[in-house]
Parts: sequence; C-alpha cells; structure tokens
Amino acid sequence: MQPIVIIGTGLAGYTLAREFRKLDSTTPLVMITADDGGFYSKPMLSNALLRNKAPAQLVSADAEKMAAENNAVIKTRTRVEAIDTVAHTVTTGDETISYSRLVLAVGARPIRLPLEGDGADDVLTVNNLDDYAQFHALLQGTKRVAVIGPGLIGCEFANDLAGAGHKVSIIGPDPHPLGRLLPGEAGAAVRDALSSIGIQWHLGTVVSRVERNGGAYRLLLADGSEVNADVVLSAIGLQADTRLAQQAGLASNRGIVVDAQLRASVPDVHALGDCAEVNGMVLPFVLPLMEQARTLAAVLAGREAAVNYPPMPVAVKTPACPVVVLPPAPGCNGDWQVVVQEDGVQAEFRDGDQLRGFALTGAATAAKQALVKQLAV
Ligand SMILES: Cc1cc2nc3c(=O)[nH]c(=O)nc-3n(C[C@H](O)[C@H](O)[C@H](O)COP(=O)(O)OP(=O)(O)OC[C@H]3O[C@@H](n4cnc5c(N)ncnc54)[C@H](O)[C@@H]3O)c2cc1C
Repeated sequence: MQPIVIIGTGLAGYTLAREFRKLDSTTPLVMITADDGGFYSKPMLSNALLRNKAPAQLVSADAEKMAAENNAVIKTRTRVEAIDTVAHTVTTGDETISYSRLVLAVGARPIRLPLEGDGADDVLTVNNLDDYAQFHALLQGTKRVAVIGPGLIGCEFANDLAGAGHKVSIIGPDPHPLGRLLPGEAGAAVRDALSSIGIQWHLGTVVSRVERNGGAYRLLLADGSEVNADVVLSAIGLQADTRLAQQAGLASNRGIVVDAQLRASVPDVHALGDCAEVNGMVLPFVLPLMEQARTLAAVLAGREAAVNYPPMPVAVKTPACPVVVLPPAPGCNGDWQVVVQEDGVQAEFRDGDQLRGFALTGAATAAKQALVKQLAV
C-alpha cells in the first residue's frame, strides 16, 4: 500500500497526523520536513523571552518521538523539490517517494521588504525555530532592537523584548498598532500600554534604508528621522508558500486553493494550515488549522466531513495590554461601536442588532466568552 505523504511538520502537519491516527492506526504515513521535525508551538516564539525559555527548551518532542507517537516515518532536513501529480510521486534531493494521497502543510513565508542600504540583508525575520535560535543568539549582550511592522507579531515581539530589558522601537505606516485588526481606539490603548513599558513608536512612516554602523545599524525613515539598533527584526507579514504547489500545477491564489474537504484542484492532493486557502479564506492561525486537521483526517479516513469553523477569537500575546480580537469577515456590513474605559476598550462590530466581530483590550477582555456565545447563535 502506498503511504499518505504529508509535507511539513509544523502544527498543521503534526495535528493532522495525530487526528488521522485517532481514526486509522495502520495506513502507512510518511512525513517529510525541511527542518529537524521537533514539535514546538510556534506561537511561543513571540513570548519565549518573558518565559525565560531558550530555543531548545521550546521543543517538547523530537522527530524520533513524534514518529513513534504517530506511527509514521519522518524524513527530517529533507526538502521536497517537486511533485508529480500524474505519477503520484514527490522528489527530494536523492529520493522519489510514491503517495496514495499527498498533503501539503508547508506553511507561509515572511514577506521581505525591498529595503536599501548595506544592512538590508541583515534584517531578521522569525517564522520558525531555526530563525528564532539565530535571533536569540544575536540578542545576547545587546540592548536596542528595532521592530519593523506594528502588527500582531511585531507587537508581541516588542512586548516580549521590552519585558526582557531591551530598548525597543517599532516602525510602521499605520496610524496605530494592530491597524488591520483593531479600530483606532483599541489600537491607541495598545500603543499607550506598550509606551508605558518603554517602547518607542515611529508610526505613519516606513523604513527606507538600513545602514551598517559599526557593529550596529542605522535605520533611515521616510519621515526623515532615524532609529539606531543592534538587531533589526522585520515582522511585516507572511504569505502562503505556494511555490511547490504552483510548480505542480495546483490552483493557487492567496494560498493553495482547497475546498471544504481540503481537496486541491488535482485528485488525491490536499493542503491545510498557513499554506492553504480554504473556501476562499487564508486564516494563518492555530484554531483554524486544528479544525482543518480534524476535517482532513476524517476525509483521509474515508468519512464524510467538511470544514465548519466555530467563532475563533485570536488572543494577542501583549501582556502590557491583553487583546482579544475576532475580526469581522472581509466585506461584512456593519460599524464598530466602541466603549472606551480607563482600564479597557470594548469594540463590537455590529450590523444592526447582529454582532459580527469584536475587539477587546485590557479589562474588557473579560467579555470574550459572552461575545463568542452571541456570535455562535
Ligand atoms: C511569532 C509567531 C507567533 C504566532 N502566534 C500565534 C498565536 O498566538 N495564535 C495563533 O493562533 N497563531 C499564531 N501564529 C500563527 C501560527 O503559529 C501558525 O498559523 C501555525 O504555526 C502555522 O503552522 P503550519 O504547520 O501551517 O506552518 P509551519 O509551522 O510554517 O510549518 C511548515 C512546515 O513545512 C515544512 N516545509 C516547507 N516547505 C517544505 C518543503 N519544500 N519540503 C519539506 N518541508 C517543507 C517546514 O519545514 C515546516 O515543517 C504565530 C506565528 C508566528 C510566526
């Protein structure tokens, strides 16, 4: 029997393997990963400093243990270079592996800014444990960190770094942080809380050059100001990694196009997680990929199933100002109705009486469960 082959051992690949094994303990499973296959929770990368965790301590099980737990063969530090959907094979450097069903769980790639200057290539991004290990090593003995991008991941890293004693500057074009997720009043609450722990904001502008300056960097901003830093981190967003899929002729848009059964445009190929556009939506968070994994496990086991998301709030890991947000669906009608109190902001996106989304900061995060219940009806 040809194996089911899963490319990727991030949260999507491993959650799928675990869910599939609950339904089918015998079908051969092969997992192929470009990294070392250690299981870690990626969200912990942006709050590991405050938890005092070194990179290696974030790994809760190595590839060998994951292979035993999931009755799978795991090929680590192995990159899939091509997929032949007619022959039902994938090719790595030295091997061609046949599949009965193929699953792409290859994640997303950081978007890189087209920066000028001799320091531009030194700008770091952190989207996996190897990146984080490099970032963590460079932080040792340094003080100043510039974070490019005041979105969710940029704000989380900034809070973590400031909490660990670094002097943090954040730069971005938006008028307030988390601009894509929050109405202005809630963004202002996040900005003020992070300012109170020493974070310097450079909003409404962008970085145009990064120059080396001794062992450090000088960032020149479009508004004429400059920021000096020992380490520069870019967190301007991710894009689904559709490269392999496109080479193999799979339909791709903002992600690999799949339907509610996680089926790609070619028979016997599926995708889930950060690389997938499921029913028209790319949702690069943990809760959606878990629902996708449960559904795909059932589909692979021959059962009827379709993705059906419950309300999925996202908690932003900024302890200086806790935030919970459930953004309204794109194009959804309605307006933000915002109540600002000294200890928090409660913003509800309503279409008449209908709640369509919410954003909560500080003490107002206590309203999360009640609002989720309203959305669920
Ligand atoms: C810093 C940070 C904080 C986050 N915090 C949160 C949070 O608080 N809450 C939340 O819901 N979400 C959060 N997220 C998002 C969440 O972590 C991701 O949605 C999730 O981890 C994506 O998992 P994945 O398995 O789809 O992708 P990945 O984890 O990127 O895994 C991709 C896998 O594919 C492999 N791969 C890729 N190409 C190939 C190839 N050609 N051949 C072989 N292997 C390949 C890689 O080696 C890797 O194993 C955060 C993300 C980041 C970066």
